[in-house]
Amino acid sequence: MLRTDYHTHTPLCHHADGTPEEFVRQAKALRLTHYGIADHAPMPPAREPFDDWRMLCSELPQYAAWIERARAEAGADLRILTGLECDWVPDIEPWVRELRSLCPCDYLIGSVHYLPHLASVDDALYANKSITGNTEKDWQLYWQAVTEMIKSGLFDIIGHIDLVKIWGRIPSGDLMEYYTPALEALQETGTAVEINTAGWHKHCAEQYPAIPLLRELLARRIPIVINSDAHSPQHLSRGWEQAVSLLQELTDKKLKQFDHPLTNRADISLKAYGSL
Ligand SMILES: [Zn+2]
Ligand SMILES: [Zn+2]
Repeated sequence: MLRTDYHTHTPLCHHADGTPEEFVRQAKALRLTHYGIADHAPMPPAREPFDDWRMLCSELPQYAAWIERARAEAGADLRILTGLECDWVPDIEPWVRELRSLCPCDYLIGSVHYLPHLASVDDALYANKSITGNTEKDWQLYWQAVTEMIKSGLFDIIGHIDLVKIWGRIPSGDLMEYYTPALEALQETGTAVEINTAGWHKHCAEQYPAIPLLRELLARRIPIVINSDAHSPQHLSRGWEQAVSLLQELTDKKLKQFDHPLTNRADISLKAYGSL
């Protein structure tokens, strides 16, 4: 099985470290075949500064240069792919389309870090209290945003799909009512979902997505990729073996080769990637 990582960051987001060369050396040491760089995408200049954890739009050329340095270091055995992790916030759709031309990407990751009224889901401010004052309401708003984002069809991979659980607040009862519209949208659009292994190192202490959701993704044959969300070279592809074991376990060891990685840079879609 090929080892890939499509969700990694660069110091341009102000909360990551490492040089392109350090990331590439680590990628080679781990025998990655594909190292995808998908840093936090800039917001439209008119909305800047949006927050303090992303590059500015004016820094896109530096981002491209950082990736070129990685490509120069990588040589022939390691493919370097250009991506961005975009935030789904109200009225962002035209900007995401524009970003594609400002920064030609091999793929885009779509993530919901913000509820519609702009509270940041993973902000430590919400470690001990819900965002809206009601966990069910938080989940409703979060999953509505995720579903809308998937339906836009703009994204190749959905990032940390159940991030809303990060602080361990989970509504009682059947969570499928939150998941189902998103699952249906994934099937309609052929969008892939990542197993984000960084979740094991967050307060929720489990991968995104949770096991019942992951089971459902597998049952519906939604493409899956394993991503580390690394913010430093030593975290590149972290937990990959554990994620593979989990997939083996959930598929009763019938995990087939789900490696049909991007074969060329012109193919910007991961949508045929990773089907079981
Ligand atoms: Zn980050
Ligand atoms: Zn993210």
